[in-house]
Amino acid sequence: MKPAPFAYRRPGSLAEAVATLAGEPGAKVLAGGQSLVPLLSMRLAAPSVLVDINGVPGLDAVEVDDAGVRVGALARHAAVLASDDVRRVQPLVPMALAHVAHATIRNRGTTVGSLVHADAAAEMPVVLTLLGGSLDVEGPSGRRTIPADQLYVGPLESSVRADEIAVSAWFPALPAGASVAFDEVSRRHGDYALVGAAALVEDDRVRVGYLSVADVPTVVDLTGVADDDLGEAALEHLDPADDIHATAAYRAQLVRVLTRRVVGRARVSRQARQPKDMR
Ligand SMILES: Cc1cc2nc3c(=O)[nH]c(=O)nc-3n(C[C@H](O)[C@H](O)[C@H](O)COP(=O)(O)OP(=O)(O)OC[C@H]3O[C@@H](n4cnc5c(N)ncnc54)[C@H](O)[C@@H]3O)c2cc1C
Repeated sequence: MKPAPFAYRRPGSLAEAVATLAGEPGAKVLAGGQSLVPLLSMRLAAPSVLVDINGVPGLDAVEVDDAGVRVGALARHAAVLASDDVRRVQPLVPMALAHVAHATIRNRGTTVGSLVHADAAAEMPVVLTLLGGSLDVEGPSGRRTIPADQLYVGPLESSVRADEIAVSAWFPALPAGASVAFDEVSRRHGDYALVGAAALVEDDRVRVGYLSVADVPTVVDLTGVADDDLGEAALEHLDPADDIHATAAYRAQLVRVLTRRVVGRARVSRQARQPKDMR
């Protein structure tokens, strides 16, 4: 199938991009195109205008300091994944990015585009949610920051308005003494996960974020739960569904296995990061 007809604009500044988007009802932002273009080709999306932001300067930065990682709207998954500074300050970001699609798609697809696309089977929305990050967006009435826990409102639906452009995402640094782990099960490496889980262990607090088990990325607090009970405790907050890829029962079993695995790995890596006299 071919896309329905659409007009194409390539603004040269952020102000022009925002004005173009606001002035064209039915317009959509084009970033890496790795999700949007297939949707156009399948006619699951039919925007009247594509506003290609790839000509907007200054949106491709990946800025890292001790407080965290700021990823610009045009930073490709591959650039974020390759950054040693990102890995040092917030290791969960590259741990999860390594599972996003294939190298060719990561070369073009953007991390911010994935956050806005809001696929509950995608890795980065759950990472942003678990870490308590945020998304900066700019629209006709200025710039605002959307905390991750207010970003995902339904299947493939975020709280970014149709006339707003996401300019960057913020991933807070891993606090001293905390640790993270990520794992997922997919049919083939690079496929969307049947279930994925990310753990954040901080002092006594244990939280796990899940992809592919609900309509939105879901974080469950498992603080104080015994190791043997982690999976069942998580399932009390989740409602895995059947689809053509897996049954609900199989997904529930993956939740049990992955929860225990990622919490265990995070605990081991936390011990390894602690000075010997504190273990
Ligand atoms: C074969 C294949 C396998 C894949 N596997 C995975 C996977 O395992 N895990 C995974 O997470 N992803 C996967 N992806 C998707 C990939 O990660 C995309 O790169 C990502 O979802 C979207 O980023 P993009 O830059 O390509 O956005 P686009 O496709 O350009 O846009 C996606 C949507 O977000 C909107 N958007 C994008 N950027 C902005 C912005 N800055 N401001 C406002 N709106 C914006 C667009 O309007 C559109 O609605 C896969 C893609 C393919 C083709």
